[in-house]
Order: sequence, then C-alpha cells, then structure tokens
Amino acid sequence: MSAVEPLRLPSPILNEDKAALLARLLDGLDQAGLYWLSGYTAALASVVGGGGSAARALAPAAAEAVAVPRLTIVYGSQTGNAKRVAERLARDAEAAGLAVRLLRAGAYPLRELAQERLLAVVISTQGEGEPPDDARGFVEFIAGKRAPKLAELRYTVLALGDSSYPKYCAIGRELDARLAALGATRLAEHVDADVDFEAAAEPWATRALAATREAQRQATPLATVTPLRPHAASATHSRERPFAAPVLANQRIVARSSARDVRHVELSLEGSGLHYEPGDALGVWPRNSPRLVEAVLDTLGLDGNHPVQSGGQSLPLTQWLASKRELTRLTRPFVAAHATLSGDSDLNHLLAADQAPPLAQLLASHQVLDLLRAYPAKWDAEGLVAALRPLTPRLYSIASSRSVVGDEAHLTVAVVDYEAFGSSHHGAASRHLADADDDASVSVFIEANERFRLPADGSRDIIMIGPGTGVAPYRGFLQERRASGASGRNWLVFGNRHLREDFLYQTEWREALQDGSLHRLDLAFSRDSSRKIYVQDRLREQGKAIWAWLQEGAQLYVCGDATQMARDVNDAVVSIAVSHGGYSAERAREWLSELLTQGRYARDVY
Ligand code: NAP
Repeated sequence: MSAVEPLRLPSPILNEDKAALLARLLDGLDQAGLYWLSGYTAALASVVGGGGSAARALAPAAAEAVAVPRLTIVYGSQTGNAKRVAERLARDAEAAGLAVRLLRAGAYPLRELAQERLLAVVISTQGEGEPPDDARGFVEFIAGKRAPKLAELRYTVLALGDSSYPKYCAIGRELDARLAALGATRLAEHVDADVDFEAAAEPWATRALAATREAQRQATPLATVTPLRPHAASATHSRERPFAAPVLANQRIVARSSARDVRHVELSLEGSGLHYEPGDALGVWPRNSPRLVEAVLDTLGLDGNHPVQSGGQSLPLTQWLASKRELTRLTRPFVAAHATLSGDSDLNHLLAADQAPPLAQLLASHQVLDLLRAYPAKWDAEGLVAALRPLTPRLYSIASSRSVVGDEAHLTVAVVDYEAFGSSHHGAASRHLADADDDASVSVFIEANERFRLPADGSRDIIMIGPGTGVAPYRGFLQERRASGASGRNWLVFGNRHLREDFLYQTEWREALQDGSLHRLDLAFSRDSSRKIYVQDRLREQGKAIWAWLQEGAQLYVCGDATQMARDVNDAVVSIAVSHGGYSAERAREWLSELLTQGRYARDVY
C-alpha cells in the first residue's frame, strides 16, 4: 500500500528532511503497522508533554513508558470470523479505557513477542488442521526453535474451528500449549469455539477483558499507549444486520446440456451503505427450502406452527427450521444427540470410534433429513431446535468491481443439487440464490478479505488461478484493473469440466484478450480428453513463463477448492521453482511460503 500519500501535504511541523525520513519509515507499513506507530508516538507525546523531545523521552525512560502492559490482540482469520471476534474485543477494551493494540497475525512483528506482557490470540483452524494462510509465519515462529522464553507473558487463546473435522481447533490448542511450554501463564483459560462461535466467544472475551483490567490496574504505567485506531465507521449493515439486496439478474452461465447449474447473480446494494473492494466476499444468509422444512416436520411428525422459545426468541418451529437452523449440513454434536435419543447401536458405535473415517464419511454424505430417516428417534420441537446447529452465512467471492458496476455485487454460484438416499439434496445458499427471482431479495453483508487484494501498484503483473467458480474474484480484478488503467499484465489460468459447456464468462475473457486488458489466458478442461487436464498441468507446461513473471514481481492468486486443488497448485509452483529456478525442493517450498507470508501469494480457498 502507499502509505506516504499524506506527506505530499506541506507539514507545518516537519521540515523536508524529516518528512523524507518519515516517508521512508512509513513505506511498506500496512494498516496494522500504521495504527501501531500512531499508538507508539501518542505514548511518546504523553511522556514528552509540552516541552522536551521524543529523542530524550525515548532514552531510556520512554522505552519503559511504551512497555506498559498493553493488551495485544492477534488474530489469524481465513473467513473473517476470528477477525470479527478480535475486533470486537479490541473495541470493548478501548471502550473500557484499557491499553490495547490489534494486529493480524501476518503483520505481528515477531521480534516483539519477547517483550509482550498481555496477549490474546483469536485463531481458526482450517480443514486438515492448518492455520489460516496469513497466520502461518506467526504459528511457525511460536512452534519453532527461535521462539523466546515467555516467563513474563500472560495470554489467552480463543480457538475457532468446526467440530465435524477431526482436527477441531487444533491450531488454537497447540498454540495455547506451546505458549505455556515457553513459560507463559494464562490470563484466561483457552476456549474452543465451534462454527456457531458467538456463544463461546462472548464469555471468553468477558473473562479476557476482566483479567486484562486487573493486570493493567496492578501495573503503574508511565504512559498509556492509545492505538488511536479510528473506529470502523459502524456500517449500517453487517453480518448481524444484513441488507435485503434486491435480485437484479439471475442467469445460468453454463450450457443447457451441462451436468451442472452455475449462476451469475447480480444484486443491488443501492442505499445499503455497503462498499467492497475486489477480492472481498459477500456473506449470504441462506434460507432452507420450504420443501426440506416440510420433509423434516413430516419425518418427525411435528407441527410447524408450534411456538419454540430459544435464546430469548419465540418463533414457530417452521421459522426456526427455515431461517435459523442448519438442515443441509450434518454436525457431530447433532449426530451425538440423535444417537442418544434413538439409542441406535450402530450410530453409537460410530461415535465411539470417534473421528474414524466412517463418522467423517457419514457427516460428509448425509444431511439432517437422511439421518432422521435412517435412524428413527422421537424428537420434540424444543429439543430439535436446541440440538441443531444455528444457520451460518455462506461466503461468495464477489465477481465484480464497483468501479464498473456501481452499487451492485455480482456472484458466481455453483448450484449444489444431487440425488442421494432416494431423494433430491441441495446446498442451502446456492439453492436459495438459484431460486431467487426478480422480485426476491437476499440477506447479505460484506466480508472484507484483506489478504486477497490487487497490488496497490498497478504496474505489477498478476497471475490468477481459479478453476470452476474459483474464477469469480478475477472477473472483479479484471474490471478494476481495466477501470483504473493499471499497466501491469494480467494472466488468467482457468479450468472446468468441458469447454463447450462450462467455460464461465467465456465472452468476457475473449473480449478482454482482444482489447488487451487480459494478456494471457490458459485453459484446462478436465473432461474433454481421456486424460484429466487440470490448471496445475497448464502451470507446469508454462513453467518457464510463470517463473519469469514471478521473478519480475508478479503477484500470484489462487481461488477455489482448498482440499485438493490448492495443494496441487502449490506443489506445481514448487516444482516450477525447482525446474526453472534451480532451487532444491526444500528451498522452493521455503521460497513459496515466504511469498505467502509476504502476501505476494494470496489464496482464497475453502
Ligand atoms: P468443480 O466443478 O468442483 O471443479 C472445477 C474444475 O476443477 C473441474 O474441471 C474439476 O475437474 C477440476 N478439479 C478437480 N480436482 C482438481 C484438482 N485437484 N486440481 C485442480 N483442478 C481440479 O468446481 P466448482 O464446483 O465451481 O467449485 C470450486 C470450489 O471453489 C468449491 O470448493 C468452492 O467452495 C470454492 N470457492 C468458490 C468461491 C466462489 O465465490 N464461488 C470462492 C472461493 C472458493 P473434475 O471434476 O473433472 O475432476
């Protein structure tokens, strides 16, 4: 980012030399770094007072002054939930007059860990027990040999995860154990938070704040470091208060003969006050289809009009099932509750052999209705609402740029629809979006994705890899690069099943090639030949050029499936560094992980 912009203004305080020095200092600092610096200088100002100089204050008393036991909140977030919890904690701490700073893990200056006194970490665990991309360096540093002894640190960890995965909250748990092993003591006990994280996050934050208040009260700081972080202008609409976005268009963008249904959906954000950058996601609150709700009620013999009270709200059961509870995703806690109720020995056996492949298989292949039908049990309405997981929003990468579409957000939606166990199944959000006609509106909010942004420097080249609907954000990227007149080259590597049927946004890419705004387009259609061709095959074929672009500073993006594709693409780029850069495999992996840490290799995968 360009942080030096304001210095172009004549400063009444800084002479030219100082302004130049400051520009050098600020160059390359991201938002978190800038906030930190503002807090640091504010602390110095309070020490310096009306007279004196910062240099005098810095030596050595001020060093002590800025080492007040401020609470540092670090978050590692993939989908934005950890970030949201951390931001709320920071806001509450500030409101309570506590000294606090907030940093994303990727921006945390690791050399400061040894001096840290109060630390709160909010971190999620991805599918196979991985940290979020942005937190990799932070987690590896703490786990590694270079981590300092932390006898004076007091800390607490909130671990976010999904209890249906074997490595539930593994990263947060490991971090908690490792910090203790390094000699740190707990400010508050670590907490694991499931997909419906709010219930666990709130009491954790309350305890963390109370402990921080006590720790800061006992210390007699010379100065309070105030982060001077502008409160994010409280958007009128948020995850908790979504905007009802009218549907402007809903078009199938694959051939009629395609086995899949992929939609291009255009939503109006007019009047919402919502803004987004290319790379951000749109959070969509789904609704379960009336047919599915009806089937659940029928199977259990329950009355949909029956009022049910939960979390201080009373609604008819139908409404709970339609818009408040997950029906298309099966979770381990619900299977456990159902096993107890049904007393079914097979189901109980599956759970006893916890985390074993059969349970994972059941969770992946069955929806709630399948379980209810396969293992009959007597549920009452209250028990059912209490046991089902609260519905969570789904995130879709936005496929447009506001520079081109104004107050609209476009989405690329693969409609999940399949037959299983003798009935049709669907994904809650994709079905909801596919069914949304011209009169409908969809409940949405913006989920910022700061890790997946175009380079601020428009002269930088970009390589965009996105099979399937993973191509979505690149439509927004290209619109933006074109509108801003960015001079850097744009290379798209797209893959899907069949060229004739599944070439998403084909006309737009072809036009962009023609008008020169897209410089290279490589395609991998997996089912048009006897051997599968994937995007990573194209990368290997074009290894020399990929390597040259990367050496010239190109930014690399990957969007789409996290489980297999992202890993395979990662391996392909490593092999390119070996073949064309002459690196050993180990050095190549290190190099790529450095690019990831620096943000030059950005992934939007889930
Ligand atoms: P898809 O149909 O599952 O796959 C698209 C193409 O990728 C197909 O040609 C497929 O080939 C191929 N493929 C399969 N395995 C691969 C591998 N290991 N490496 C490379 N290519 C592989 O795609 P989709 O349904 O559109 O879903 C894309 C994924 O992106 C989903 O997981 C979605 O959650 C995620 N995602 C979507 C968005 C969004 O905004 N829509 C944003 C971020 C992530 P075969 O099927 O022939 O094997």
